[in-house]
Amino acid sequence: MKGLGPGGMMVASGAAAKGWRPTPCPACGSPLDIGAPESACVAGRCRASEREAAAAAVVAKAEAERLRSRAGALEAAGAEVAAALAAVGVSPEDALVTDAPFFDPGIVTARPDQRAAFLAHLDAIVAEGFAAAPAPASDAARLKGEAEEAPALTAACAVCRGRCCRLGAASHAFLSADEIARARRDRPQDDAEAVKRRYLDLLPDDPVEGSCLYHGPMGCTLPRAMRADICNDFHCTEQRTIAREMAERPRRAVAVVSRDGAAPLAVGVIDVAAAEADGFAAGFRETWRRGAPRAAGD
Ligand code: SF4
Ligand code: SF4
Repeated sequence: MKGLGPGGMMVASGAAAKGWRPTPCPACGSPLDIGAPESACVAGRCRASEREAAAAAVVAKAEAERLRSRAGALEAAGAEVAAALAAVGVSPEDALVTDAPFFDPGIVTARPDQRAAFLAHLDAIVAEGFAAAPAPASDAARLKGEAEEAPALTAACAVCRGRCCRLGAASHAFLSADEIARARRDRPQDDAEAVKRRYLDLLPDDPVEGSCLYHGPMGCTLPRAMRADICNDFHCTEQRTIAREMAERPRRAVAVVSRDGAAPLAVGVIDVAAAEADGFAAGFRETWRRGAPRAAGD
């Protein structure tokens, strides 16, 4: 015989008569089905916490591996880092030694199909940008995004050589009608053809293979005011580490080890004061790159 239990659930009448209570899940306390093993809780709350714990474990494992590789690369590059700091006359106590991603640009060559697709995209966003009103006056957040980066952060990109910019290949440099609307606001005298021409004139002759068309051998060729927000706002894990460490304790120099796993592949150093006074190029130098030919006198 069956009867209705709490919530309308069908239970054995004998169990109901004895005041039967479902076994609670040991993890979340939700009632388990009759006869279900304790591991068979199907309540969303329990499952969610299990999934969260599993995801957190994966993230923690990946982070531990990243930190292990990072420590290995920094140790392996000890001699190159010492030489880099000596090159700018800064003692190790006055320097931050840190890591950056690595990107090997390989051959530099323009892909005709990629360029043709970009030109079609540019035509479309210029038409869209001129069909709408110009962007409103630039706000504080936008102006902050367009301001030059701290030299220590730019140094990471210079040694890395633009790993994240590969994502700009398929997304046409992330450009949209928003950037065209801003170009109209900033230079109201320009017509659609002039705006398009400004973007075309800034394409490098030798873009990095497999990357954004504005990714030249020396980095991005677009001024920050003409880039998409994501290009100005994005900071990788390594850059965020530099920003945090320099905010906690400003140092005279930052030596950046570009690495692939635990293998150091390039080292650069930035003299922060020199870069702030006279521009990035005045303070930065790449002092070592694996496989690079040595200059005479090295
Ligand atoms: S933001 Fe990070 S990944 Fe992108 S170029 Fe700079 S250092 Fe490399
Ligand atoms: S526009 Fe510049 S910053 Fe943006 S993805 Fe292309 S090369 Fe990188």
